[in-house]
Amino acid sequence: MTKRVSILGATGSIGDSTLDIIRRAEPGVYKVVSLTANKNAEKLAALAKEFHVEFVALADEAGAKSLQALLAETQIEIGIGQGALIEAANRPADFTMAAIIGAAGLEPTLAAVAQGNHIGLANKECLVCAGETFMKAVADSGATLLPVDSEHNAIFQVLEADQPDGVKRLILTASGGPFRDKTQKELQSVTREDALNHPVWDMGAKITIDSATLMNKGLELIEASYLFDRPSAEIDVIIHPQSIIHSMVEYIDGSVLAQMGSPDMRTPIAYALGWPSRINAPVERLDFAKISQLSFFDPDVVRFPALRLAREALEAGGCAPCVLNAANEQAVAAFLDGRIGFTDISKVVAKTLERESAGRDYGCNPGAVEAIIGVDQAARRTADEQIVSL
Ligand code: NDP
Repeated sequence: MTKRVSILGATGSIGDSTLDIIRRAEPGVYKVVSLTANKNAEKLAALAKEFHVEFVALADEAGAKSLQALLAETQIEIGIGQGALIEAANRPADFTMAAIIGAAGLEPTLAAVAQGNHIGLANKECLVCAGETFMKAVADSGATLLPVDSEHNAIFQVLEADQPDGVKRLILTASGGPFRDKTQKELQSVTREDALNHPVWDMGAKITIDSATLMNKGLELIEASYLFDRPSAEIDVIIHPQSIIHSMVEYIDGSVLAQMGSPDMRTPIAYALGWPSRINAPVERLDFAKISQLSFFDPDVVRFPALRLAREALEAGGCAPCVLNAANEQAVAAFLDGRIGFTDISKVVAKTLERESAGRDYGCNPGAVEAIIGVDQAARRTADEQIVSL
């Protein structure tokens, strides 16, 4: 049977890898239903034509004319603006890849969840800013959430979900990013280009910077807590520079189950797309004889305070992870624009958390999506003030 697939965030790195797997499949295995992008009308139009999609959505209204001109000779339906992202997510699909970057992915992903089908979840920020609300929406709709983040996908593969009491802890691995061995002083002068040069993974710009600050691992810690219903104390992070082991689960009998593979997102994407069957992924195979070493060490939360901040936000609960995420998105954008330095990213996040926690019931569960978006926007304004005042 043909699997109907939609991709939210089709023009990004996860979108590319997903479409690469679909492109290589036998004709008729997949039908691409809808694709979305933010600004990149040219790439969206090219993909829409190549995959004969039904509907495309471009979030940024400035690109409307260009997209309409590019698709003028086709029958492809076009939607523009935020509402169009929801329309794309509402199109009946067996599998939706949620790969918009940042909190912008929350509402479209929730719309896809409401269909009750399979969701490949790459957008970790959804769970960070709306963990309880998001998981409740999944439970209410009966959707199947298939983690795409390689660490969570690894845990999903080795977790004996029917025996939750047998699990002692989850162990998330981290490559450590490009600045793993830099001193605190050296970190102050690293450039945007240095930070975008990830030693192992080829990813979009925002997540690459998050990997360099270790905020990515912090966001993943929060993501894992909601996805697998485990408290902070039962989730550890370990630096594993080779990124061969993508994460592990330790059981109470001392067994540790790990999932391994080449550091290539097409493996977790293929796992989610094919689930519950295994499908081919065109990735380099592990050659154990050539892997001379698998090394591990504890993360340094003094040089990389983002990981500590994320753990604290998870433990504070309520709005704190949403504030952390919003502040981080603003700070990373400012770093990419050259407005702040690398070590300022964590400072902005820390100051925003501090400011936003003063005078409000910080531990409250914001509940409805509108309330979460309100918290997100207020935190962005506070983060912007911190950025200007640095
Ligand atoms: P990219 O930046 O490469 O792509 C992001 C996609 O989202 C693009 O299609 C972009 O459109 C679209 N987009 C950006 N901003 C908005 C917005 N405001 N509204 C609607 N659409 C928007 O990101 P990645 O593919 O790297 O990451 C996507 C998600 O997957 C993130 O949540 C990330 O954390 C997660 N992830 C990514 C991994 C990776 O290897 N890349 C690994 C694990 C998780 P446009 O091209 O027009 O800007």
